[in-house]
Amino acid sequence: MVKKEFKAESKRLLEMMINSIYTQKEIFLRELISNSSDAIDKIYYRALTDESISFDSDNYFVKIDIDKENRLLTITDTGIGMTKEELEANLGTIAKSGSLAFKTENELKDGHDIIGQFGVGFYSAFMVADHVTVTSRALDSGEAYVWRSNGADGYTIEEATKESVGTTIELKIKENTEDESYDEFLEEYRIQSIIKKYSDFIRYPIKMDVTNR
Ligand code: ADP
Ligand code: MG
Repeated sequence: MVKKEFKAESKRLLEMMINSIYTQKEIFLRELISNSSDAIDKIYYRALTDESISFDSDNYFVKIDIDKENRLLTITDTGIGMTKEELEANLGTIAKSGSLAFKTENELKDGHDIIGQFGVGFYSAFMVADHVTVTSRALDSGEAYVWRSNGADGYTIEEATKESVGTTIELKIKENTEDESYDEFLEEYRIQSIIKKYSDFIRYPIKMDVTNR
């Protein structure tokens, strides 16, 4: 297993984004859910033209899981998934996120909360997580791969096992510091309200098991 370096530019972008004082951290969830929704869209459109794929809407959803004890927040989707090559291409190059490249060119200079206003993409996960694990199995592929990164110094990709097509993104939520608390991102009610605020329009179900209170 070879650990690969992010490209220098990506590293700078990542740092800039993570440290941006303007950023509302909560938007990471909007970004990840919208990626999941995009991935389900891709299966949906494929099914329209490919008779071998049936799109039974019951089988397509986003699922959020919270494991407070281990500080894990997990977003699972039944979307189209990513091959090893796609994991590398899509998650290994930060500037890949078209929206981020656009913002950087046009808006970062005037210091507005552009990150809160536009899509920043996958890497916003590192605002709240110090370790991100993406396990994915692509449609038409029997193989699954796991992408792991702590943001700062690169990522690894390894073979993995995954029963069904789609993607699971596991965030190891940061420990609280003197100035910042991250515990809120492990609270059901908080996660529910972020979903309500930003992801109400998503046309696939967003599921979460909720504790009886
Ligand atoms: P954008 O959504 O603007 O393209 P992102 O940084 O949010 O940028 O995501 C980068 C790419 O990674 C996406 O375009 C997509 O190809 C891939 N990707 C991210 N999340 C998922 C997912 N849950 N399922 C499948 N592909 C994904
Ligand atoms: Mg996106």
